[in-house]
Amino acid sequence: MEYKLIMIADDLPAAKRIILDDQLSDLEQRNFCFAEAKDGRVYCMISQSASSIMKQRAQTIKDFGLDTREIVTVYVTQELLSIFRDRMSHDVSMVVESESDLDRRFTDILIQAIRAHASDIHLEIYADHAEVKFRIHGLIYKIGELDSHTVNRLVNYVYNVAAAEGSKDTQYNPEDMQDALLDTHIEIDGVMRHYKLRLQTAPCYPNAVTIVMRLLPVDAQLKITLHELGYSQHQIKLLERAQARPVGVTIIAGTTGSGKSTTMATLLSEIFRRSKGTKKILTTEDPPEYAIPGANQINLSTKRIGTAEEENIFVKAIKVAMRCDPDIIMVGEVRDQRSTQLLSSAVLSGHQVFTTVHAASAISIYNRLLNLGFENHVLASPNFLALLVYQALVPVSCTKCALPYAVFVKKMANDKDIKAVIQRLEALIKKDEYKDKKLDEVRFVNDEGCSDCRRGISGRTVVAEMLEPTPEILAALRALEFENALRLWHDQGGRTALEHGTEKIFQGQVDPRFVEDRCGLLVDTVEGE
Ligand SMILES: [Zn+2]
Repeated sequence: MEYKLIMIADDLPAAKRIILDDQLSDLEQRNFCFAEAKDGRVYCMISQSASSIMKQRAQTIKDFGLDTREIVTVYVTQELLSIFRDRMSHDVSMVVESESDLDRRFTDILIQAIRAHASDIHLEIYADHAEVKFRIHGLIYKIGELDSHTVNRLVNYVYNVAAAEGSKDTQYNPEDMQDALLDTHIEIDGVMRHYKLRLQTAPCYPNAVTIVMRLLPVDAQLKITLHELGYSQHQIKLLERAQARPVGVTIIAGTTGSGKSTTMATLLSEIFRRSKGTKKILTTEDPPEYAIPGANQINLSTKRIGTAEEENIFVKAIKVAMRCDPDIIMVGEVRDQRSTQLLSSAVLSGHQVFTTVHAASAISIYNRLLNLGFENHVLASPNFLALLVYQALVPVSCTKCALPYAVFVKKMANDKDIKAVIQRLEALIKKDEYKDKKLDEVRFVNDEGCSDCRRGISGRTVVAEMLEPTPEILAALRALEFENALRLWHDQGGRTALEHGTEKIFQGQVDPRFVEDRCGLLVDTVEGE
């Protein structure tokens, strides 16, 4: 660590750009400033009175991917700091970056994203500036601002130079919708990590471009159980029963980012472990998100998306998987008639099949499958459907800094949206099934966060609903009497994802706002409205 005290403006460091400012409050901006110098070092200019406020920012600095030990601390007066900020905002001369500069900048962003456990990097280029955002625990966080020119050059570099040949068009064109794949090995804290990045660009009205890179760790290892993912004891029992069935299809529905792949990988690796390796598991994935111990994973991601060739590859992969003498087949997603026919014949010929679809509830999976081309009499036949699952992921409140119900209600007394949530909670506990619940148990996310979390959120947990079709339910589904099927499901103890989420609200594990965001309102109407 280096310290320096600067008394006159001429001695201010030769900085290239100010960083992290968007994460600082006005008060903080008056007292300190982070800047990247032309030599790549990071300076922290700080007014001498502000060292203690700075300490609270250790996490922000860490999240940005900076090592606090490598930051050069420069003590200045508040006046000098304001001169420095002024100077930087007037210095509009663009730094022309070389390819190696761009590569280093891209690597920096990548390392920062990986350290922050981001699933996606978003670059949004507007006319007058560009924004870097990460998706972490399912939520978007703005990480920083850069000038449009730099980010445009960065995207050009990533697309034209870094992306794999054969995965892209010849040239990046901001006016076009383009995709590409990157294969990258990157050293983080002394460990080499292997990542694939799927890049998608889209021009946006009136003259912006959004670029999203999904991070896919190639060496990701599953070290998680169904319990840790957040399923209830009853749901684990249902999943285990589905795992144990030698024939039948288990289908998981949910939106993108609902944890379907993680659940699939966990289910398959458990089957392999329990069978002591006596079962052959084949998967076709686009692309594999985890290395599943014991499974042979066919990777479809090397092909361009959205092309006719892709559809053929998808169907071909299922055919190939079938010919490889499997006991269990996992197909990343069913999406067309040809793949549904193949999956039907896989089940009917005595295989255990796992797959995902897009559907909005467990029961609506049935309808979705009909629309995809499965035949009603096949779907409703005994031993065809093993289990229908719908799930979402909800952010988990940090236990260290979450706000107790009373504190939060008092703090947010004037917020209309919050008042409505509170009213719904109060209406909810008047219902018979929740009358033993206590509002005191409810916790709200503290946006300010603490050293243990990111803005009050420490991870994500599953909320799910599962339908194990009994003969009665199957008869109702076959007759397309969905209301009736739902009632039968409720009678046998079926609980919706919203009810599962509500359980977690009263355990203080998740914030009611996030449950409503993912699963719908806690109650339909509040009396007196
Ligand atoms: Zn916290």
